[in-house]
Formats: sequence, C-alpha cells, structure tokens
Amino acid sequence: MVHNKISSPSFLEEVEAESGEKVRICYQCGKCSAGCPVGYAMDLLPNQVMRLVQLGLKDEVLSCATIWLCASCETCATRCPREIEIVKVMDVLRRRSSAEGYPSAVREVPIFVNSFIGNLKRFGRLYEAAFVGTYNILSGHLTKDFDKVPAMLSKHKLSLLPPRIKGISRIREIIKRVEEIEKK
Ligand code: SF4
Ligand code: SF4
Repeated sequence: MVHNKISSPSFLEEVEAESGEKVRICYQCGKCSAGCPVGYAMDLLPNQVMRLVQLGLKDEVLSCATIWLCASCETCATRCPREIEIVKVMDVLRRRSSAEGYPSAVREVPIFVNSFIGNLKRFGRLYEAAFVGTYNILSGHLTKDFDKVPAMLSKHKLSLLPPRIKGISRIREIIKRVEEIEKK
C-alpha cells in the first residue's frame, strides 16, 4: 500500500478519541523521552511521536519503529507533568498502523506476535521450545538463544514435551473473540 507524506487534519482527533488521552496538551517538556528505557533504540523519541500526532503527520507516525519498540512500561506516564498516558496512545498507533497496512518498521515484532498466538492456539498455553523454534525459523535468527537451552533444561525451566491442559477449546474461543474485536 502506498501512503502519501501529508498532514491529516483529523488524525489528532481520531487518536485522542480512540485512546481517551488529550495529546494536544503535551507541551514538549521531554520528560517522557528522558526516562524511556527503550529510547536508545527508537527512531523517534516518545515526545516526538506526540508532536507528530499533534501535527497530524500520520504517515510518519504510523510507519515509525518506536510504536513497535515501546515496552508499555508506563515510565513515561509516571513522569509526564500533563498526566498523559502515552502507552494508550502507542497502543492506538500500533493498531492503526497494522489495520491500515503500514509495514512494521521492526519486522521481528509481527513474527514474534504471530508465533506466540499460534503457539497458544495450538497448545493452550505457551510451549516454549516450539515457540522459540518457530520464531527463530521465521525470523531468520536460527540459533538465537540456543546456548541457553542446556542450562534451562538442567534447571527444569524448559520442557521438550508440550504442555497438557484442560479446556483448550475455551482458550481458543477467547483468542478468536479477541481477534474478532481487533478486526473491528
Ligand atoms: S512528558 Fe508529557 S508533556 Fe512532556 S513531552 Fe512527554 S507527553 Fe509531552
Ligand atoms: S511506555 Fe513505552 S514510551 Fe513510555 S517509557 Fe516505556 S517504553 Fe518508553
């Protein structure tokens, strides 16, 4: 999908309505960015994301890596003098980015999420060995974390056998309902 780099006047209102947060009252003090533990890896700092939303620069915001790297740790919210819950804004931006067909700026994120959800659907709870194997193959990081396997096995932190749980159909039903809600 091709996206033009233009300002969208209604974008600010839409993000505010969906997140319940008043992005417009951000006065760019930068306290959120100064405390963000993931800031070193982001392409836009949290305060810059807020400014771009204020300006309606939808394409720049929805295609940035920051919205996929935010760890939802809430540090920014506790530091913000305007009491803006930036995490809620980031959630909305991620949803919009995905729903509107912007390619994820961090390709591993959707691979991780899909591997995780697929694993839950199949086994009812996380089967770590299969999850890591699937993620590593799909992401191309074939040997990632393999060096930790012997220690985890010896400490019974990892099982080679899949978990057995009751009520797996109910877990699948919950995931299905959440997916339907997200599509809307
Ligand atoms: S801390 Fe709050 S007011 Fe300051 S830049 Fe961040 S979001 Fe804006
Ligand atoms: S919630 Fe996201 S943006 Fe806020 S401090 Fe944590 S990682 Fe940074």
